Amino acid sequence: MTRWFAIPLWQRVVAALILGIIVGRIWGPGAENIKIVGDVFVASIKMLVVPLIFFSLVSGVAAIGDLRKLGRVGGRAMLLFVVTGQIAVWLGLWLGTVFGPGLGVDTSAIQMGVTPPPNDTTWRDMVMSIIPQSPVQVMADVAVLPLIVFSLLIGIGILMSGEDGAPVQKIFDSGSVVMQKVTAVVMELTPFGVFALMSWVAGTLGFDALYALAKLVGLNYLGCFLIIFVMYSGMIKFLARLPVIHFYRGIVDAMAVSYSTASSNATLPVTLRCAERNLGVSNSVASFVISLGATINMNGTAMYLGLATLFGAQVFGVDLTWGQYFLISILGTLGAIGAAGIPGAGLIMMALVFGAVGVPLETIAFVAGVDRIMDMMRTVTNVSGDAAVAVTVASMTGEIDREEMISADDV
Ligand code: ASP
Repeated sequence: MTRWFAIPLWQRVVAALILGIIVGRIWGPGAENIKIVGDVFVASIKMLVVPLIFFSLVSGVAAIGDLRKLGRVGGRAMLLFVVTGQIAVWLGLWLGTVFGPGLGVDTSAIQMGVTPPPNDTTWRDMVMSIIPQSPVQVMADVAVLPLIVFSLLIGIGILMSGEDGAPVQKIFDSGSVVMQKVTAVVMELTPFGVFALMSWVAGTLGFDALYALAKLVGLNYLGCFLIIFVMYSGMIKFLARLPVIHFYRGIVDAMAVSYSTASSNATLPVTLRCAERNLGVSNSVASFVISLGATINMNGTAMYLGLATLFGAQVFGVDLTWGQYFLISILGTLGAIGAAGIPGAGLIMMALVFGAVGVPLETIAFVAGVDRIMDMMRTVTNVSGDAAVAVTVASMTGEIDREEMISADDV
């Protein structure tokens, strides 16, 4: 037992993935019988969505400390978060369109559940659906967008209440820690879920499905590389006006930790240290931008949501209109904002985007087996983005020590 836990989770997951494919190939369609284990895994992840977003977002906003700071630094940071998030989803959509990773998969063996009908929402409906008319209903329906709005407002309310709000803030801080622990427990199911889902995919769908998944993984990595080395380099060079190479040298530690943990939250202390010590960002800007960013700035996840939605649409032959592309781009950005900085969060958020454009939710079970490998790279992208935004905002507001960034050798 202890030997099992001594092996890092990601290694157990990779082993489960390979074993799952082998067993599935040998077992054939009979592997359908163990899909239930995968379904339990995916359902357990879904269980976490509401409490995770609620606690982590409220405690993230409340951590800012005061409203004026929220405006000055927060405004710039939010703008960068949203703009880069939008670019990232469109990159995912573009990669998915150009390379068509989900084309040519025979899905006749998949037993379909209920496919959400494509919803032709008007702008009016969309605006109204963001307002959390009944917070309890919002939670019961797992409606992520109004939940985000509600959480932000509670966070702002806490900031406005000063001393009187402190006990409530404490509850959210503590709730957020507790939810991370619950998530860690659920994540222990990953090797079993991955094993079952991969045998099901390999056994019932054959090589074309595995090939499609391999392409999806490849494109996920390509998209992340483009975001890190093109978009962030551009930000550092043209917005922050700092030497790009020093930036990457300064965040190597955070990149390594995020790749192995697949969690922006778990990497947070390392990212903070890199930003302050190696990149010369002031403590107040670093702590605010990076802790908020760990919860809401997820460009790797945003790119992936765009890519995965197209993948699902291609696999199941759903035609998407331009209007739906725009909807995906908005929901992808918002989904990335709503995703918690923990392993598997991107997978959880897929339901939000899929449901809105009529892509079958079966796609989630289909890709869940390879999600962890993609998650690791998404997280590196997310964490590097937090550091890039912190450096840029710090440089715009005069809160960076340029000398320190350039001369830092001890990285
Ligand atoms: N694991 C990612 C993170 O912590 C989120 C995701 O699943 O995309 O940043």
